[in-house]
Amino acid sequence: MRSSTKSAIVVGGGIVGLTSAWRLAKSGYHVTVFDPTPGRGATWAAAGMIAPHAEVAPGERANFDLQRQALGAWQTLSGELEAQIGRRVHLHVTGTLLTGWDAGDRRLVDQFRQVADDFKVTSAIVRRDSHPEVFIGLSDRISTGLLLDGDAWLDPDQAVAVLREGLASLGVDVVTEFVDSIEGTSSAVAIHYHGGSMRADAGILATGAFGLPDGAAPSGEHSVRPVRGMTVRIDGIDRSSAPTLRCLVRGRPFYLVSRPGGYCVIGASSEERSGPLIEVGELQRLLRDALDVVPELEACSLVETRVGLRPASTNLEPFFEQWPERRWAWSSGHFRHGITLAPLTACSSLEFVDRVTA
Ligand SMILES: Cc1cc2nc3c(=O)[nH]c(=O)nc-3n(C[C@H](O)[C@H](O)[C@H](O)COP(=O)(O)OP(=O)(O)OC[C@H]3O[C@@H](n4cnc5c(N)ncnc54)[C@H](O)[C@@H]3O)c2cc1C
Repeated sequence: MRSSTKSAIVVGGGIVGLTSAWRLAKSGYHVTVFDPTPGRGATWAAAGMIAPHAEVAPGERANFDLQRQALGAWQTLSGELEAQIGRRVHLHVTGTLLTGWDAGDRRLVDQFRQVADDFKVTSAIVRRDSHPEVFIGLSDRISTGLLLDGDAWLDPDQAVAVLREGLASLGVDVVTEFVDSIEGTSSAVAIHYHGGSMRADAGILATGAFGLPDGAAPSGEHSVRPVRGMTVRIDGIDRSSAPTLRCLVRGRPFYLVSRPGGYCVIGASSEERSGPLIEVGELQRLLRDALDVVPELEACSLVETRVGLRPASTNLEPFFEQWPERRWAWSSGHFRHGITLAPLTACSSLEFVDRVTA
């Protein structure tokens, strides 16, 4: 632990900003986070899956290798929080069941299995007659699936709440202001917001899919576009002892993350647009797929819908762009994997701030 004479500003209090702030504050920096609505960006809409095995995709080897380290990073972070404030981020290692609705979808599951084999992911074909507990609540039409061990989930609301409590205990201020502009020199950074300014020794921009504040000077190598996603929250079905369910339905991906007590997150739509409004057709497609696969949902209560903007980079991988001569770094592009990757990204934030303030 170094002396707390050095300071850092984190712009953006989503999961990426909050975990970075934690890593910096834990290492002795005096940290201030700016966000008008902390935890209410894409982080708020996310299901919270940490599912590297269910997320393998051709050409995404580097991202897969990174995601495989994520559960361990979350376990470390959760242990630190417990030591600091007596509360953990709860990590549920349930594995994933991947199924298909019709013959075309089952063929896609077979193709997925070949990719998973290439990535050396351990998977097993399971059948309803030999593993009835895995198929609990699913339509009779679904009788086989692919079981992927080791995938997990966390509740982003709980993670944000525990992180904020941990940050408060380390003296981190979360200022609910939008940062209009930033400045940086080889010796200090500054931010300006409505009615105020602040200086620090270094800064991290963790603004997700949002535009950068004025004064940021990205190299042009990276860009971010918003990909809107919606999750639906329902109450009344508890599959939490079974693997997280993923199903391809008429070619569309559908998932259900079940939390103990009956709260479930159903997701997710994916639209290449930025508007915060949910289209009726988007909601109807998701619910129709969900009701086909899990008929019991019909009698459940609708709690709410949530919508967020996934920050997508050109190659769909996260980036950490550094401007050391201005003491700023820009961390974004986490797309579908920001909850998963946040504690790893936080280590990049610490390395950068250590380096430029050394
Ligand atoms: C429907 C959906 C489901 C998802 N499911 C999963 C999942 O299961 N697993 C997973 O790993 N990932 C999932 N994701 C992806 C994940 O949510 C994102 O990758 C992650 O939340 C990105 O985090 P972030 O902190 O970069 O962005 P955000 O959470 O969007 O946070 C950015 C923050 O920056 C603030 N901000 C922006 N500009 C400024 C400014 N100028 N001044 C101050 N503050 C500013 C915003 O207010 C916001 O709070 C999902 C996403 C969606 C939309």
